[in-house]
Amino acid sequence: MSFVATVLTLYPEMFPGPLGISLAARAREEGKWSLDTVQIRDFAADRHRTVDDTPAGGGAGMVLRADVLAAAIDHAQAAHPQNPIIALTPRGAPLTQARIRALAQGPGVTLLCGRFEGFDERIFAARPIEQVSVGDIVLSGGEPAALMLLDACIRLLPGVMGAASSGAEESFENGLLEYPHYTRPASWEGREIPEVLRSGDHAKIAAWRKQRAEDDTRLRRPDLWERHVGVRDQSASGARRETKEMGQ
Ligand code: SAH
Repeated sequence: MSFVATVLTLYPEMFPGPLGISLAARAREEGKWSLDTVQIRDFAADRHRTVDDTPAGGGAGMVLRADVLAAAIDHAQAAHPQNPIIALTPRGAPLTQARIRALAQGPGVTLLCGRFEGFDERIFAARPIEQVSVGDIVLSGGEPAALMLLDACIRLLPGVMGAASSGAEESFENGLLEYPHYTRPASWEGREIPEVLRSGDHAKIAAWRKQRAEDDTRLRRPDLWERHVGVRDQSASGARRETKEMGQ
């Protein structure tokens, strides 16, 4: 069973785009994932194939019509009823590596790309759609966000990355940023690779990496650090409670 990605967009020609190169392209040739694009405009009901209209209440820009979106979504889901539907929107929940990992374990995903000012809000009440954001930035369309999400899923599909890079140590996998990397030359522009990494002492190297991952997360991403410490403390107190309950 391979991972099925369906992308609903006004610009199907943007796909596979960067996913037609390198790792993702090879994985697709090997049948590890497949890609379908659905042109939202094909589901417009009028002669002019209108997909948008002016915002209720006034203001700039145009809004994607709920009836047109629903017809496109229903068409996509008829083929893949098990796949979660995700709309890309800055109003969504921030995308996380944990969500990506869960998606990569599933049968696939249906992605809804916005344009203009975005979607008529009623679509989210009428269909089971998860709303996801790829960062506190505003893109001109959901397509680059969909490509990001798919790229992150595809590299986790079984057999796509070599065994050497299982991804387990990577940034965010354990709630921390990854430690920094170095490679030859040992000395470059007068800068040396940290001595410990050349010591051959695996325990010391592991300790250094753990320390750097923690220090860098604390300094660069206080938000991640706070959550990490919270989870750590919680599971520690949970363990203490269990020990007590067991009368030990
Ligand atoms: N008026 C909207 C922005 C619309 S941008 C607002 O202020 O919230 C047009 C489309 O680009 C959106 O519908 C969405 O599909 C996509 N998009 C923009 N920024 C995004 C982000 N950070 N994450 C995911 N999708 C985004």
